[in-house]
Amino acid sequence: MSGEYKLLIGGKLVDGDSTMNVLNPATETRIATCPRGSARQLNEAVAAAKKAFPKWAATTMDERRRVLVRVADAVESRREEMARLLTSEQGKPLGEAQGEVDLTAAFFRHAALLNLDPKILEDSDARRVELHRRPLGVIAGIIPWNFPLMIMAFKVPLALLAGNTIVVKPAATTPLATLMFGALIATIVPAGVVNIVTDANDLGNVLTSHPDVAKVAFTGSSATGLKVLGNVAKSMKRFTLELGGNDPGIVLQDAIPKDVAPGIFQGAFFNSGQVCLALKRLYVHESQYDEMCEELGKLARDAVLGDGLQQGTVVGPLQNAMQYEKVKTYLNDAHANGKIVAGGNVPDRPGYFIQPTIVKDMEEGTKLVDEEQFGPILPVLKYKTLDEAIARANASEYGLGASVWSSDRTRAKEVALKLEAGTVFINKHADIAPHIPQAGAKGSGLGVEIGEEGLLEYTQVQVLNEAL
Ligand code: NAD
Repeated sequence: MSGEYKLLIGGKLVDGDSTMNVLNPATETRIATCPRGSARQLNEAVAAAKKAFPKWAATTMDERRRVLVRVADAVESRREEMARLLTSEQGKPLGEAQGEVDLTAAFFRHAALLNLDPKILEDSDARRVELHRRPLGVIAGIIPWNFPLMIMAFKVPLALLAGNTIVVKPAATTPLATLMFGALIATIVPAGVVNIVTDANDLGNVLTSHPDVAKVAFTGSSATGLKVLGNVAKSMKRFTLELGGNDPGIVLQDAIPKDVAPGIFQGAFFNSGQVCLALKRLYVHESQYDEMCEELGKLARDAVLGDGLQQGTVVGPLQNAMQYEKVKTYLNDAHANGKIVAGGNVPDRPGYFIQPTIVKDMEEGTKLVDEEQFGPILPVLKYKTLDEAIARANASEYGLGASVWSSDRTRAKEVALKLEAGTVFINKHADIAPHIPQAGAKGSGLGVEIGEEGLLEYTQVQVLNEAL
């Protein structure tokens, strides 16, 4: 399939200066040879975005909205093909990939409904003051490998609606669906407004230190986020950092284990646990502990592990070899410091598979509990008092998401408001939609993404203050 995929630079679909192989994580075989962008091509993309900016910024909101809706239509028209490609390169079950493609289109469609009308702050005998929202210029959109399309769609439509242009850099192991997206929109979006350049994990630094980039919209690990922060600080670039998490879930004593277990399992094992907002440690009262572990254990044993393209697969492989090796160290930690309730093995087959694993009798101070495992292993921790559970849930450098599980909504809400997280879910975990903003607390990020609040982050405030 060599030559099928192209970079998008200045409205043209072009080959990379070199190539790289993209593997299917379920089989470890090559799906395609893909263009690999060079620093020269990345600079070319930034130059194209810079050139396109004044004209795009001068278009009306309605013109931009029409483009966004046409992009959504184009994505929907190729839903099945795009979802299959996404599963092939990313590993997630096909149903999840279809959901991701649908959400990608939904993010474009929803952005077209938003407004950036000027606000009148004062209109008196003394003065008239208006607050305008101006575009920033060239945006750098840096995307991780867990949701290549959806996270790209967190950024591109809002950046464009505000009048910016963008250079998107997908992750090295998941560029294909993004390049297919690029080919789809090449004739819809004016030349240079959206550019897509791949790399082999080596161009992030070039992009985030580029003098012509006005804002970096980064999603990825906290370690890389800190490097990005270093670069943007040097030139006062605007930025949003959506980083890692170690989301706690607290099951209140009134919850019925059998009823809440499926939602907890879904929140922890969706996309093989490779979700920033996945449930990554679960606190259960001692009176229900064994029952809860057993309910989750049953679900883990029943969950079909396999190739995402095969019907019936519930949990796919890890996305790449590096993550697979990393998650195996968490599995070793689970064996060493906890008791395996279900799973715990690495199947002897090609592909980056790890059995969905439930671990009990683990404590803080272990790798699996304290760090972000980003894989299909859930530690279940025992608590005695609710205050203790809340304190332990909050004792993390991260603060992305959290959840409370209870039959009593009022009580659940009281607990939710005590948790240090940008999003707290009640009786679910990880629910993303185009109108719901996402913001990491503490080490999980800086700034807001998605929705109206996310849109504002792609703008510069300009106040017009007029004497009357
Ligand atoms: P990563 O940080 O390794 O890579 C993310 C992106 O950054 C990739 O495109 C990569 O090529 C690029 N990159 C690498 N070095 C760079 C540099 N020096 N400067 C700029 N960019 C650079 O992350 P990952 O392993 O791809 O993704 C997993 C992580 O992402 C997890 O920690 C997860 O929690 C986090 N994540 C967060 C959110 C959120 O919204 N908070 C969403 C999804 C994933």
